Formats: sequence, structure tokens, C-alpha cells
Amino acid sequence: METAKAVRAAGGTALRGGAFKPRTSPYAFQGLKEDGLRILAAAREETGLAVVTEVISAMDVPLVASYADVLQVGARNMQNYRLLEAIGKCDTPVLLKRGAAATIDELLLAGEYVLNGGNPNVILCERGIRTFEAHTRFTLPLASVPYLKERTHLPVVVDPSHGTGRASLVAPMACAAIAAGADGLMIEVHPDPERALSDGFQSLNFQQYAEMMSRLHHLSLSLGKRIEFREVEAKEPVMV
Ligand code: PEP
Ligand code: MN
Repeated sequence: METAKAVRAAGGTALRGGAFKPRTSPYAFQGLKEDGLRILAAAREETGLAVVTEVISAMDVPLVASYADVLQVGARNMQNYRLLEAIGKCDTPVLLKRGAAATIDELLLAGEYVLNGGNPNVILCERGIRTFEAHTRFTLPLASVPYLKERTHLPVVVDPSHGTGRASLVAPMACAAIAAGADGLMIEVHPDPERALSDGFQSLNFQQYAEMMSRLHHLSLSLGKRIEFREVEAKEPVMV
């Protein structure tokens, strides 16, 4: 709830929180499941932020869709075709993340599964791919943004948190993503990243998030674009 309020105050428009977490290790925190969905719904009630949350199995689609404004399909499930078909049958928008080893054609075909099922509301997300490079968690190929925008009419979102795996690299790559034409960003935020149960090393604290949003606001204006700030628009920038 604290995070939702901070995100809202800094101009965020949606709250992405994982209630069903696809963790690499079965011993890592797996999410709060339906209790987590209830918390997200309460945060929406309180802040007006849209709720984006991951669904990891076809069986869970009706439950998760009853709480979510946007269903996230994570990198590990991009090629879970039964899950994509189940999402194709509902009309909740889907944020489809690129698999860490998926080509762009594979990402687009995964999107086709949802579109073909009758759900036109597909948002593509570049979140980085696995390469030989080890200085970042993944390698974030931003050329995929203008490329995808040439190839499809679908909105393209970038996730520089997973894309870099380092909090210090998130804001610069968020700026680069907007400059490359991204329609949105997914940013991991935590009140105390060192104590986060998941991915704290790539999460921004509230001040870092607000500073990044201010930079993005100014960058967008200079690019003739506008990032949505809703009613906090007139607020003084935190940092120019
Ligand atoms: C996430 O968004 O928290 C996540 C698990 O990301 P990805 O599916 O891109 O690894
Ligand atoms: Mn994460």
C-alpha cells in the first residue's frame, strides 16, 4: 500500500505486483497467491492505479482475471501455449513478456495465440534476453522497440529492472527506452529494496523512482511526447 501511494504520487499509472510468482528456485518466495490479489485490489481502491499481475497457469486465469486490469504473462511462460489460449478467451488485456531466449518472431507468434483466441488487447514487453554478457542480469536490446513498432500495431513496454538487474542502471535505460519509442515502462519499486523478498537488487526506492519519473517527464516533453501524469501533472518536478 505504501508503494502504491508512492508510485501514484510520482505519476505512475498502474501497479504491477506479483501474487503468483514464477521463481527460478522452488525455495524462493512464491507470492501470496489470492491474498496478494486482494491486497492489489485494495491498493487500486485506495489509489486508482490499474492492477497488473501475473498469471502462471491456465487454471488460474479466471481467478486472476477477476482481480486484474491487466494479466501479465512472464518470460518463463511466453511459450506456454495453453495459457496463452486461455487468456485469448477473456477480454482482459495482457502484458506479454519476451522469453529470455525467445526471438522476436517467437514473441510475435506468442502474441498471435492471444489475438487469435479473440482477445485483441495485447501489450508486448521487452525485458532483456540471455547472452554471453554477464555484467548485467540480462542484455536489454532496445532496437527491438522500434522494430516491434514497425512490425505491429501493438503497444510496446520495456522492463529495465529485469533487463539490467541493477538498480543504478534502471533510470538510464528507462530514458533510453522512451527515446527508442516505448509506450510504457515497467519499473520495480520497493520501500526498502535491501529487504525485498524478490529482486531487491534491481528495485528502486521511492526517491529514486520519483527522480526517474521527473527525468522521464522532461525527456518526454523534449521528444514531443508526454508520459501520463494524471492529476499530479502540475506537481513540481523532483529533479530537473
Ligand atoms: C517479473 O516481472 O517480476 C518477472 C518475473 O519478470 P520476467 O517474467 O520478465 O522474468
Ligand atoms: Mn521481479
